[in-house]
Amino acid sequence: MRSDTVTKPTEAMRVAMANAEVDDDVLGNDPTALRLETEMARIMGKEAALFVPSGTMGNLISVLVHCDVRGSEVILGDISHIHIYENGGISTLGGVHPRTVKNNKDGTMDLDLVEAAIRDPKGELVYPITRLICIENSHANSGGRCLSVEYTDKIGELAKKHGLKLHIDGARIFNAATALGVPVDRLVQAADSVSVCLSKGLGAPVGTVIVGSKGFISKAKIMRKALGGGMRQVGILCAAALVALQDNVRKLEDDHKNTKLLADGLNKITGLKVDISSVETNIVFVNLSENLNTTAPKLCKRLEEHGVLVMLENKFRFRIVIHHQITTSDVQYALSCIK
Ligand SMILES: *Cc1c(COP(=O)(O)O)cnc(C)c1O
Repeated sequence: MRSDTVTKPTEAMRVAMANAEVDDDVLGNDPTALRLETEMARIMGKEAALFVPSGTMGNLISVLVHCDVRGSEVILGDISHIHIYENGGISTLGGVHPRTVKNNKDGTMDLDLVEAAIRDPKGELVYPITRLICIENSHANSGGRCLSVEYTDKIGELAKKHGLKLHIDGARIFNAATALGVPVDRLVQAADSVSVCLSKGLGAPVGTVIVGSKGFISKAKIMRKALGGGMRQVGILCAAALVALQDNVRKLEDDHKNTKLLADGLNKITGLKVDISSVETNIVFVNLSENLNTTAPKLCKRLEEHGVLVMLENKFRFRIVIHHQITTSDVQYALSCIK
């Protein structure tokens, strides 16, 4: 239960992988990769798509393509995945300067703070040049909270007004669309690019797809090659991803139900606290009361002895993430162990 990245390929994925038609994708000839990219572009309502090895590379390529002049600046959340967990790659590899804006508890950034962070182009003698705004949906570090269509549209309008691009780190965009009950293409309509993980809740073994305009994707393809992400018979991986799209998107609703069940159960255990209002998708942050006679590291170790793996956050906090290979009875078993 420590992450939705730990899913194993299903039998249907293994069969699809074994039977995948493949060719050299760097030469643009792998039919299964092309099928996945066409399908993902259609689902997301964008012109084109590109399969990349990881979510980190998907975000990196997107930022580098939008900010193709060294010394460009990107506005992003202070606890966003790109800013915290991606090795600062946008700076070290791309020469892109990060300008952080505070993430609210619900994963949003205040629109007026975003607007205030945009540099005045007249100050080019001293300022970097703002080129991009990044948002994250669902927002992992806020507990998997969802940014609404209305919010996303407003950020998009703001970006447009100032001649900026909008990138969505949509590692869990299908979780967000499911929880909000909106079509995923509508949710990302305002974005110039979106990075969608296949190996989180969708349960594929490897990969992310980035989507955007044809022009964006052709530049992204060059950047992918430069970063070492051009792969040859990649249809083996894309075949599993196609099964994930077909079989697993609809399972996210059950994941969210199991997550709510878990969160409610945890909140009934003395000494533990979950902010129920923040549980919108498949992530739960659990806080231990400081006057318990145990700590999160000790509790996590005991749980491990019972086969329950969770992610330690700090001395008084751990994280649980639900995915399609965690059943309702697994949740009940975990609750009884924790209790
Ligand atoms: C997992 C994740 C990514 C990408 O992670 P990889 O491990 O590189 O695939 C990006 N953004 C968010 C919000 C994520 O949760």
